[in-house]
Amino acid sequence: MAILPIVTVPDPLLKKVSEPVEKVDDKVRAFLDDMLETMYAAPGIGLAAVQVGKLWRILVIDIASDDEEPNPMYFINPVITWTSEEFNTYNEGCLSIPEQYADVERPAECKVDFIDYNGDEKEIHADGLLATCIQHEMDHLNGVVFIDYLSKIKRGIYVRKVKKLVREKEE
Ligand SMILES: [Zn+2]
Repeated sequence: MAILPIVTVPDPLLKKVSEPVEKVDDKVRAFLDDMLETMYAAPGIGLAAVQVGKLWRILVIDIASDDEEPNPMYFINPVITWTSEEFNTYNEGCLSIPEQYADVERPAECKVDFIDYNGDEKEIHADGLLATCIQHEMDHLNGVVFIDYLSKIKRGIYVRKVKKLVREKEE
């Protein structure tokens, strides 16, 4: 396993639409392992493949709290098939927009079809933090990040802050 470098805004890669995975083979599974390790090391609760530079429709998520057992979830080619009419607001963050947070409103529940780590077709009905996390990560697959929901001015401020952070890290 390996920790992969995380792409941050304003990298144009984050605006790209990811492609479906054709087959879940050992190469894909090795990549899933690396994604999970990268997410845990960051640390974060969700990561999309594009955030580590690969345009595959893949997400890894683990929303277990520190005092719970790890609960890694793998979503390959996920498709949201239903969203609730009720909305939830969460203060969201993103490993590609480090240390910046904003309230984002999304459907409170969603149903998702996906392929799991073993290549089996699955469906999940998510609510709470998991529903938000899935929708946040699915946005990445379509070239959208959470600051795209904010005003242009706020977005600009966030991007400048991230650029400064990244510069400081490199020094
Ligand atoms: Zn994100």
